[in-house]
Amino acid sequence: MEEIERLTRAALKFRDERDWARFHTPKDLAANLSIEAGELQECFLWKASEEADAERVGEELADVVVTALLLAHHYRFDLAALVEKKLAQNAAKYPVDRFKGKNLKWDDARAAGGT
Ligand SMILES: [Mg+2]
Repeated sequence: MEEIERLTRAALKFRDERDWARFHTPKDLAANLSIEAGELQECFLWKASEEADAERVGEELADVVVTALLLAHHYRFDLAALVEKKLAQNAAKYPVDRFKGKNLKWDDARAAGGT
């Protein structure tokens, strides 16, 4: 929790020193989140996972997280609480006894009648 707040403050300081808040609308932050996720995917494009440059993977992952922190800050979300809530929802949606070792999405498993 304290780490998330510390990192959010650092991201806000970086943003505000550059007077970029006016560009960081929720719409643009959501778009940037997708773009940065695309840059993360690009690290792996046309190669096996183990061939990706781990340093670059980390840099792009950090871009994703910074953008997510800024978007969460805009909505005054408690990011730790959101993640905990979502993990609980996922645990209910994907119970261990039915999904352990299976790579099916919840709706695919339901459609197959297997779970
Ligand atoms: Mg990037």
